[in-house]
Amino acid sequence: MNSFKGLNGLKRHVLVVDDDMINREILSNILRTEYEVHTAGDGKEALDLIKAGDCSFSLILADLLMPVMDGFELIKNLKEDDALRLIPVIVMTSESDAEVRSIKMGAADFITKPYDMPDVILARCERIIELQENKNIIHDTEKDMLTGLYSREYFIEYINQIEKYKADRKVDILNINIDHFHLLNELYGREEGNNALIRIGHILLDIFSEKPGICCRTEADNFIVYCDHEVDHKYVLEKLIDGLSDASVFHKIRLRMGVYTDADKSLMVENWLDRAKTACDMIRGDYSKDIEYYSNENYEQAKFREKLINDIDDAIKNKNLKVFYQPKYDITGEKPVLRSAEALVRWIHPELGMISPGDFIPLFESNGLIQKLDRFVWEEVAGQVGKWKREYNVSVPVSVNVSRMDIYFSGLKDNFVRLLEENGLEPKELMLEITESAYSENAEELISVVENLRSDGFMIEMDDFGTGYSSLNMITSIPIDALKLDMKFVRNMEKDEKSMKLVELVLEIAEFLQVPVIAEGVETDNQLRLLKERGCDIIQGYYFSKPVPPEEFTAFFDK
Ligand code: C2E
Ligand code: CA
Ligand code: CA
Repeated sequence: MNSFKGLNGLKRHVLVVDDDMINREILSNILRTEYEVHTAGDGKEALDLIKAGDCSFSLILADLLMPVMDGFELIKNLKEDDALRLIPVIVMTSESDAEVRSIKMGAADFITKPYDMPDVILARCERIIELQENKNIIHDTEKDMLTGLYSREYFIEYINQIEKYKADRKVDILNINIDHFHLLNELYGREEGNNALIRIGHILLDIFSEKPGICCRTEADNFIVYCDHEVDHKYVLEKLIDGLSDASVFHKIRLRMGVYTDADKSLMVENWLDRAKTACDMIRGDYSKDIEYYSNENYEQAKFREKLINDIDDAIKNKNLKVFYQPKYDITGEKPVLRSAEALVRWIHPELGMISPGDFIPLFESNGLIQKLDRFVWEEVAGQVGKWKREYNVSVPVSVNVSRMDIYFSGLKDNFVRLLEENGLEPKELMLEITESAYSENAEELISVVENLRSDGFMIEMDDFGTGYSSLNMITSIPIDALKLDMKFVRNMEKDEKSMKLVELVLEIAEFLQVPVIAEGVETDNQLRLLKERGCDIIQGYYFSKPVPPEEFTAFFDK
């Protein structure tokens, strides 16, 4: 409860209800050392004051015998009101039978007149308030026994109460989320997942026992903090990352934070939380950033993303997703020869027009929808390759992109095998592209999945090579059939010596591994020449063609 006191920096409010002005004064003076004291002359006046809601009372001390509305009637009224029934009432009396009656009606305790033991009175008040507040918390936070943080409902309620005291203070909302938390659960077990959550909870409690703020956990791996505007967000995130850095499992956790600063007090607390979450979602899967701030712009973008998420099922059903094919040419001989193609998806949205995969692939990778999309694409591609085979009597191996998420789907191989069978294809006709960064993230699991696929004859191309920070050691032990040199290096090799050196290095590594290199994003004669001179085998890029719809792709067969 310290954080609560600390946060508003104010005393709790108590209400003294007595028709006797002298008694009211004596009691108020005693309580004033610890509490913000309000007074009322009878039950009716008290009830009006409480219902006015200008402040929220932690305790009511009520005389029993009063004109207009007596103490019994006041207790009865409070207990019947859902919003008020949790405010504890201590009755003040000198008759013992009335004490019993009032306690039976729901009073929390009693104090006998005259008030000659101030310390005892204060201690009783404190105990009752604490009891009630703990009771509320236990009642409301049942759902989060794990971390000891507040549940969302209670958290919001708490903020609302605090805001009543100090609506003019600037506050921020921090939303902290674990990237791919479900993977942590799947790979290391629920217990490790829980451990991570507990750890985060403890660190947050630790930080905000010193700094003004309160914390809650929602939706398994989402943490929210309501804090003073002065709190340093980076410090909070760094503390969390620091605190998680020791265990190897935790080391794999990536945290991201969305911040809604200087919350608009005309909005509801729920809106504040949404905004912080929106900011946090903006950088889901974006490894270049770990803190994002809410702004109107990213709100618009969040809306756009939300639309894409909502529309993906329809897009699949109505075939608004279309697979384009980009040829890969073998340049080792005199004349370039069509060797294979890459399948690249496009979304022809009925309202938004053509959407490029850059807009939705990272989004779907971050929320798991990619699996649905990829399976649709693979199905289309297998069908198309089979069709070309039957209708044109040509075999054009096509590579499909396999997201890191797909890899952990246990039916992956069976699914590919089924596609081959249904369409009369050989494994080498459906190649798989896996991005290099997936290898460095989870080498062991990935290698075993890849080995399993290769044992059935599937060919694996390592995509975006040069961007994924694999170690040399790892590259030599990874089972692959081709390296795809990332476009970035091709684009820069003419003007920047470092890029050229990297291109050469990749070609040497490939030679050592005895696998071909596919250079992506080749647009010019000169790029093609430079790559060919250095022993690059295969070229993909606008130089030959942009990705085209399947009906246009057949033109490449004759050439
Ligand atoms: P990627 O796998 O690296 O694909 C190559 C990207 O480079 C494609 O962009 C392609 O259109 C573009 N490109 C090819 N040649 C050139 C060139 O000469 N110049 C330039 N400027 N660009 C060139 P695209 O189609 O926008 O795809 C972007 C990324 O989206 C892909 O990068 C891939 O990671 C992902 N993606 C596309 N389709 C799928 C899919 O079906 N499933 C999954 N999981 N990812 C996909
Ligand atoms: Ca690719
Ligand atoms: Ca690529």
